Amino acid sequence: MSSYEHSVVINLDKCTGCTACIKHCPTEAIRIKNGKAEINDERCIDCGECIRVCPHKAKKAICGQLKNMERFKWKIALPAPTLYGQFENLEDIDYVLDGLLKIGFDDVFEVSKAAELVSAYTRKYLKTEGVKKPAISSACPVVVRLIGLRFPSLSENLIHMLPPMEVAARLAKEKAAKEHPELKPEEIGVCFITPCPAKSSYVKNGFAEYKSSVDEVVSISDIYFLLIGEMELGSDIKQLSQSGMIGVGWARTGGEATAIFNENYLAADGIENVNKLLDQIENGNIPQLEFIELNACTGGCVGGVLTMQNPFIAKAKLQILRRYLPVSQNTPSKDELEYIPNCYLFNELPEYPPISRLSDNIAESMRMMSDIQKLRNNLPGIDCGSCGAPNCRAFAEDVIKGLADIKSCRILDDKE
Ligand code: SF4
Ligand code: SF4
Repeated sequence: MSSYEHSVVINLDKCTGCTACIKHCPTEAIRIKNGKAEINDERCIDCGECIRVCPHKAKKAICGQLKNMERFKWKIALPAPTLYGQFENLEDIDYVLDGLLKIGFDDVFEVSKAAELVSAYTRKYLKTEGVKKPAISSACPVVVRLIGLRFPSLSENLIHMLPPMEVAARLAKEKAAKEHPELKPEEIGVCFITPCPAKSSYVKNGFAEYKSSVDEVVSISDIYFLLIGEMELGSDIKQLSQSGMIGVGWARTGGEATAIFNENYLAADGIENVNKLLDQIENGNIPQLEFIELNACTGGCVGGVLTMQNPFIAKAKLQILRRYLPVSQNTPSKDELEYIPNCYLFNELPEYPPISRLSDNIAESMRMMSDIQKLRNNLPGIDCGSCGAPNCRAFAEDVIKGLADIKSCRILDDKE
């Protein structure tokens, strides 16, 4: 039984067992059982791909609710930069930040501000002796979990820097405590406004030995209409934004990588591409690279399933917003860059049992592997999905593990 708390769930009443989702799941986590989809918690990486492809809207993401922030005296919003790309005719990020204050937040701390600091310290990190190259960004929680489950040998390539959301939460709480010494730590609450369910799972489960500093995660789609109602475009508002091009650029693929200021990088997106690339990296089948940025969603965070805008349009809107921004508004001084502060780093990676492991016993594992191969050779090999598994190989594995009955193969059954 998995102890990982997921954010992607199925509404069984809506599921027709159509099998559309099983073939798109990057970790083969879904099976159809008794006519309904079932997610294997140990394999799911909360990528949201099944939400995207389900024609019956039977999959959904569970996030927190804004009203849950009422338990705090001082409420801080942490907007992901993707939020800025969601609105029509927006010429200034300050309208979004002002809107967040109007819907009830006491303060706003931009994740793009923290992203600029993370970029600066990542540049320092990459110059540190002993860092395994290519260094892979750990900013996308889907990618981190995918590596742990499917490509564990690449875990040592992951950069041990916390994602901007987490750094922003820590810095926002520190700032509030300093500016409002009358507040007790438990009275300060931080709410991340997320483009994807994976960030919500990250907050629920923490990261290795760390508990997240984020208290609530609300989706962009849930907050969008509330904000639209409060944003007064064209009115006079205070200057609130403290981000530059670098921080806002993190919302789309390549934004994090270009901020490394090293040409020797690769940036890719889309879970299928990410899966293939990790496979190539594991097999040593890539050129020498310093840094790899991988985003599970197409286009980067702008492509998250909890956004409102087409990712390509959101990207274009961000491009317009970035045009008058300085390169960065958050560059640490030379002295501050002498070492990377602890609040940016994690020591231990979370450990996920690799999904390719068939048994803890090597001999047993090898026997099972051979049985799977034999059974697979006897199956029709057309990957029809009618057995409820995404393909014949996955079905053979289920049968040998005792998770499926060979009689579920309708084609084999018809032949007999
Ligand atoms: S896509 Fe999956 S979850 Fe959606 S109806 Fe079909 S089987 Fe059910
Ligand atoms: S969220 Fe992603 S990994 Fe989880 S079941 Fe859906 S497609 Fe598979």
